[in-house]
Amino acid sequence: MTIPRHRRRADRHSRATQQQALGTCPGCGKRAYTSKATAKAAARRLYPGTRMRAYSCPGTPWWHLTSQDAAHTARMRDQQAARAERSRT
Ligand SMILES: [Zn+2]
Repeated sequence: MTIPRHRRRADRHSRATQQQALGTCPGCGKRAYTSKATAKAAARRLYPGTRMRAYSCPGTPWWHLTSQDAAHTARMRDQQAARAERSRT
């Protein structure tokens, strides 16, 4: 007795999807990934040609993707600098 080929392919596909994305984050509602590596792999597949940044969601073990926005990155750097300045004084 043989298993229909199309059935097996569907099973493999659903398993792969589960490894890529866990679902939505209970904390912020964004799509959640189980690791930085899976998040980045998903970014390459879902947003080819777009620079996406993987970051860990605070308070959860999940990872999210965000588009790499230069202004946002600069703002984050400024905030970190300001925090470092404050803790020094
Ligand atoms: Zn989250």
